[in-house]
Amino acid sequence: MQYVEHIGIAVRNLEESNTLFSSLLGTMPYKMETVESEHVRTSFFRKGETKIELLESTADDGPIGKFIEKRGEGIHHIAFEVQDIRKEMERLREEGFRLLNDEPKMGADHKLVCFIHPKSANGVLIELCQSLKDPETKA
Ligand code: ZN
Repeated sequence: MQYVEHIGIAVRNLEESNTLFSSLLGTMPYKMETVESEHVRTSFFRKGETKIELLESTADDGPIGKFIEKRGEGIHHIAFEVQDIRKEMERLREEGFRLLNDEPKMGADHKLVCFIHPKSANGVLIELCQSLKDPETKA
């Protein structure tokens, strides 16, 4: 684990929350992206090294839809940047953590991601992410 890459926040209405977080943080989202496989629309804000990811559900039975139904809007996950996601997944598996996926998958913002079940982390959903090169910005 290297550092907190972003914090994911579940919201009901992405446009309204973009306005709210723009005035809160004093900056506009630098990108918006839909991840069909996860049934979410996302927007990203950057402050220094840390990002905030807002997530709006595109389907009631998607993970964000279910989360909001159960717990309302709020912090959904904490994401840690890792150098080698496969290695880190193997290490955590050996430590007894329950991973939500067997293989890393493509997430938003040009990342390979994997989630750790909240039941093995004190009720917190943890995301591991390994940033890949962004073809647009080459960052
Ligand atoms: Zn995330």
